[in-house]
Amino acid sequence: MDSVITIPASGDNFIYLYRYDKNNALVVDPCNSSAVLHKLKEHNLNLTTILVTHHHWDHTGGISDLKKKTGCKVVGADKRRIPSIDFLVDDKRILTVGNYELHVIATPGHTKTSVCYYIPATDENEHKVLWTGDTLFIGGCGRILECNARTMWDSLIKLASLPDDTLVYCGHDYTQENYEFALTIEPDNKAVKKRLREIIETVRKDGFTVPSTILQEKTTNIFLRSDSEEIKIALNMPNAGIVDVFAELRRRKDVF
Ligand SMILES: [Zn+2]
Repeated sequence: MDSVITIPASGDNFIYLYRYDKNNALVVDPCNSSAVLHKLKEHNLNLTTILVTHHHWDHTGGISDLKKKTGCKVVGADKRRIPSIDFLVDDKRILTVGNYELHVIATPGHTKTSVCYYIPATDENEHKVLWTGDTLFIGGCGRILECNARTMWDSLIKLASLPDDTLVYCGHDYTQENYEFALTIEPDNKAVKKRLREIIETVRKDGFTVPSTILQEKTTNIFLRSDSEEIKIALNMPNAGIVDVFAELRRRKDVF
């Protein structure tokens, strides 16, 4: 029964509807309301819940209008900076949506109060689903804005420890740019080159570059490979620690 409906919005944002039973859905990070209302109508769904990964306007812009028009409840981790929160959550909180568990994973780094949402597999729902906001992107990671590199790295590692076949849905489509960046560090990485070719083809056909999987990210996301010897050598940092390598990758991506 479960299904994720991807809604591209505001240029490179992804909004997600998740149908958790026949008539009901939740939405993740609605940057605007009109595209969401349109999809709800098209699929004949009620909106019960908004999940917010962090407070930035391009993840929250549609909250007030959706709440007004549907009466849905808002879930988020930052009462001060996210409008109209009904359920304030924090790390390891488990909520129930329909027959599913929804796990909150605190992932500070991009902002101090960023969280990701994870739905484990059940008998009725064989897909494990993870919404990562601006923490983990496909092939990349978010900018470090309110925390240090150690904090962001620890958050990314938490996500990487989820099951390999977890489907990863992120907040922006930076996928092609992320693989292009990775090739500036490792021009001969065959797996990344192959991924970039696939992504270019997907984009050419107007397809979505999500979802990925945790396994795919552990294999081809350069930031998650900060602990690999190949990356240390490529950066000419043979004796550096993992966090320093990660911080250097992120610094280079900031100016890419
Ligand atoms: Zn953001």
